[in-house]
Amino acid sequence: MITKDQPFIFERSKPGRVGHSLPTLDIEEQSINELIPSEFLRELEPELPEVSELEIMRHYTALSKRNHGVDSGFYPLGSCTMKYNPKINEDVARFEGLAHIHPYQPVEQVQGAMELLYELQTSLAEITGMDEVTLQPAAGAHGEWTGLMMIRAFHEANGDFQRTKVIVPDSAHGTNPASATVAGFASVTVRTDDNGLVDLDHLREVVGEDTAALMLTNPNTLGLFESYIVEMAQIIHEAGGKLYYDGANSNAILGIARPGDMGFDVVHLNLHKTFTGPHGGGGPGSGPVGVKKDLIPYLPKPVIVKRVDGVYDFDYNRPQSIGRVKPYYGNYGINVRAYTYIRTMGPDGLRKVSEYAVLNANYMMRRLEPHFDLPYTQHCKHEFVISGRRQKKLGVRTLDIAKRLLDFGYHPPTIYFPLNVEECMMIEPTETESKETLDEFIDAMIQIAREAEENPEIVQEAPHTTVISRLDETTAARKPILKYEKA
Ligand SMILES: *Cc1c(COP(=O)(O)O)cnc(C)c1O
Repeated sequence: MITKDQPFIFERSKPGRVGHSLPTLDIEEQSINELIPSEFLRELEPELPEVSELEIMRHYTALSKRNHGVDSGFYPLGSCTMKYNPKINEDVARFEGLAHIHPYQPVEQVQGAMELLYELQTSLAEITGMDEVTLQPAAGAHGEWTGLMMIRAFHEANGDFQRTKVIVPDSAHGTNPASATVAGFASVTVRTDDNGLVDLDHLREVVGEDTAALMLTNPNTLGLFESYIVEMAQIIHEAGGKLYYDGANSNAILGIARPGDMGFDVVHLNLHKTFTGPHGGGGPGSGPVGVKKDLIPYLPKPVIVKRVDGVYDFDYNRPQSIGRVKPYYGNYGINVRAYTYIRTMGPDGLRKVSEYAVLNANYMMRRLEPHFDLPYTQHCKHEFVISGRRQKKLGVRTLDIAKRLLDFGYHPPTIYFPLNVEECMMIEPTETESKETLDEFIDAMIQIAREAEENPEIVQEAPHTTVISRLDETTAARKPILKYEKA
């Protein structure tokens, strides 16, 4: 059991205590400043803790328990799809024939590893309704940028240099306008209407000859399905633009609906969200991009192909390609995990994923509806937003509610996003949670709503049980203290 006040390893230090047993030296002993040039040394005699092996073990184990992850508790962080990462993915990613090969080994020696990539590309194309897929992009935002660069190359090849604008809804994930900017476009906002869907009249107003693309996620970031998607595709295509699908969270549509069939020309997926790659903490991700036929020439190269003789190969002969977007062929290990997931689930299993993800979200939304404001009342898809407006009037902000959830052992939902909902909480339970877990979380939320009415201080001063309470979040982000400092 770790306690809040457990002494840090430096305070446990006793001179002369050691945590290692090394053989006696058979060479002459050298001091640190003989081994390392002094300009690289901050201190000649750094003050290091002197502790036993057991104490250092307990130190690191205690630190690891201060982390929250999907394997330690419920994590309903909307738009992040914090679902369970099956451990079979880890076993397969460690297969020697996959983990111990070199990216520049001759292709004839690594046919199995290449077949896996090819099959993954083909499966993702099938799942999204696209014609070809690249596995190179290392994350969702990287996939967005890659997709937009292909759209740009397409327009430029047609002499359409005036297409400099990318339309993005006001509920969009922040990476969308950012990627548009980095790809050299200006982003134009299209409004959300009272039902939480893209305002079609406003879309008709902002679209034009300068439109390169519309970037959209469907279901959108409010968890609502854009039911006029076919009309929207028509508006954009008639204006000569392309339709970009942000499929980072595809948890609502697997085996049910395909972006390709809705009229999208480009799709990115987050394998580290929907396809059970572990994420958080800045680990490696994977953001494959699928395209329709007319964008295939612009795919990043090399493209993994299956030759007519059945041999898998890298095709570098792609004169219109936007080039390489990542060293080697993408984050291989994360692609192996996604492939394992797809093969263990199968088409019916993937469809069930989405059915349960949507069921769980709707169950939770309806049970919370009497206790919090629900800005959009229609059924949701894999996630939903509620508003803490009612609690704010009592002096309890959404940030306080999020902090109070920590006392119950939950990672809070996404808060204050999307920006178009006041005191927003965006909840995504995912399909991998049991009904009991959903109920326990709902009960905690209901208790917090009651506390806001009866005893607001307990929420305003939360969290009460964590190692540290509230941080100055700006300083914590801009000037983090990452090493031990004596109090
Ligand atoms: C997570 C997310 C992204 C960005 O993905 P990264 O892998 O973090 O770059 C883009 N769009 C949506 C809707 C997302 O949820």
